[in-house]
Amino acid sequence: MSEALDQLLANNRRWAAATEAREPGFFTRLARQQSPRYMWIGCADSRVPANEITGLDPGEVFVHRNVANLVVHSDLNALSTIQFAVEHLKVRHIMVVGHYGCAGVRAAMRGVRVGLADNWLRHVQDVRLRHRRRLDHLDAEAQEDVLCEMNVIEQVGNVALSTVLQDAWARGQQVAVHGWVYGLRDGLLKDLHVTMDDPETVVERFAAALKRYPRGEPAAGPAGEPDGADTAFGPGAL
Ligand SMILES: [Zn+2]
Repeated sequence: MSEALDQLLANNRRWAAATEAREPGFFTRLARQQSPRYMWIGCADSRVPANEITGLDPGEVFVHRNVANLVVHSDLNALSTIQFAVEHLKVRHIMVVGHYGCAGVRAAMRGVRVGLADNWLRHVQDVRLRHRRRLDHLDAEAQEDVLCEMNVIEQVGNVALSTVLQDAWARGQQVAVHGWVYGLRDGLLKDLHVTMDDPETVVERFAAALKRYPRGEPAAGPAGEPDGADTAFGPGAL
């Protein structure tokens, strides 16, 4: 085996020994059961590891990651993970966590072709198109940062509108969906204040979060071009 991988296995042995020494019985306890209170839906980017960023130990956060932290209504991988987290683990909080400088968001913003992932990133481009009047008047860097945030807001909405969350809330289960964004430059998480914990207020929370991003002046041209942004959301619009 390569030296680099040997190093990883050596690191692992050291970590396991140190963890057990610090907290005897840690692994036998964990092996019996996991009961995390949190679910993290984040980007696959190697710089955004859920446990380290939040100071959580193994067993404390259930994680799903993909490129650009998307929750697509037909993605059985993400939906199955969310269902397991909500119905079996009974997590209390689901955090959708984007990050500034996300290569997936940047590729979608700039229309860069990266390969198969173009089809996946189409979902981010859809977010950009829906909210273009809140984006187009910003400079390029600000557009990418704001699109990272808007993408999180949209995905929080997608989790909230999933059958898993709708059914959980209908049963009276307490579970909240939050939107955060992580700064690669300072290591800090920012709450986007789009927490959804009740089906009655999902659309209202979504609209309130978006209102924080002012629209630019309407572009000259055919009048009445629909923005489609804030209204094309919610069960009534599906
Ligand atoms: Zn990313």
